[in-house]
Amino acid sequence: MSLLFPNATPRDFAIRGALLRWYHANARPLPWRGAKDAYAIWVSEIMLQQTQVATVIPYYVRFLRAFPTVHRLARTSFERVAEQWSGLGYYRRARQLHRAAREVVARFNGKFPDQYQEARTLPGVGHYTACAVLSIAYNRPLPVLDGNVARVVARLNACRGNLHQVAFREQVERQLGCLLARRRPGDFNQALMEMGQTLCLPRTPQCSACPIQKWCKAFQEGNPELYPEPRARRPTERRHLAAAVVLRGNKVALVRGMDEGLLGDLWNFPSAFGESRKQAVANLQRKLAAHSGSGARPGPPAGSVRHTITFRSIQVTLYPFEPPPSRGAFRWFSLKELDRAAVSQLARKIAAVALVTRP
Ligand code: SF4
Repeated sequence: MSLLFPNATPRDFAIRGALLRWYHANARPLPWRGAKDAYAIWVSEIMLQQTQVATVIPYYVRFLRAFPTVHRLARTSFERVAEQWSGLGYYRRARQLHRAAREVVARFNGKFPDQYQEARTLPGVGHYTACAVLSIAYNRPLPVLDGNVARVVARLNACRGNLHQVAFREQVERQLGCLLARRRPGDFNQALMEMGQTLCLPRTPQCSACPIQKWCKAFQEGNPELYPEPRARRPTERRHLAAAVVLRGNKVALVRGMDEGLLGDLWNFPSAFGESRKQAVANLQRKLAAHSGSGARPGPPAGSVRHTITFRSIQVTLYPFEPPPSRGAFRWFSLKELDRAAVSQLARKIAAVALVTRP
């Protein structure tokens, strides 16, 4: 997005003022609201990527309690970070946040950079995150454009298309640049996001309560829910996964990551994908033999769970494996340790079926 802004019209000024007044009176008291500490704002922005506000709140509070400063985060091991992140998903974000915290301490004396170009050099800090943190923490006049903001602006000006189309994106960015409040960019950006999350909803826009209704072209047309246009979705892939439940006493063997490079930062039950249940368990047996050199064989299926990872809809079948391998890249966890460890949601589901219900 160009960092130079076109001129605003009287209509833009009026919309801007109405938005800011509405935000001042109606902003939800979220735990990161009002924070001026760039680190706290940065953590919230990373957690909010692809995750709903209500889901993020408890994780955010817990994370900041565990790592109240960027120095504390930089000093800790990734294992500890992943434990706090466990359940929030998209673990790459946690990995990059941790690496970036170390860089902020090493290169910027523990202060999140207040210059756009410097912020962009940090792992996991893309254009959106840099603009959000800099506008909210340092009042830099940078507009932020996410799905919620795009929806409000597209409806306001009846822009055809969606965020995956370059022409639409450029049009919305230009209009956003005109609307941006130069003196209160952080509040303005949060006001638009808040509008998109609470009033200008995808299917049921609450136009009767909207502070900018009188300028909204989609409302005047009578069809706001048609903006923005839907994008073509990637079709769901149905997969089979065989997961090994390998027990030794009251402990279970887990490995880092899972098949096909998924969930690489988390502990998981050893597993393998296949086009069918039979093929998945054969792949798993081969994999276990290659990892541990053991000739462990699967017992009869001991349960199943369903799980979704992005576009994959996964049918997971659990197999007890005997005898337990004596070597390999396993780590042994007791049930109690599983609760606290950096374990994937899928592993927790499997544990609930395979271990908790075990006689
Ligand atoms: S009037 Fe309705 S569609 Fe237009 S911005 Fe407000 S809530 Fe969204």
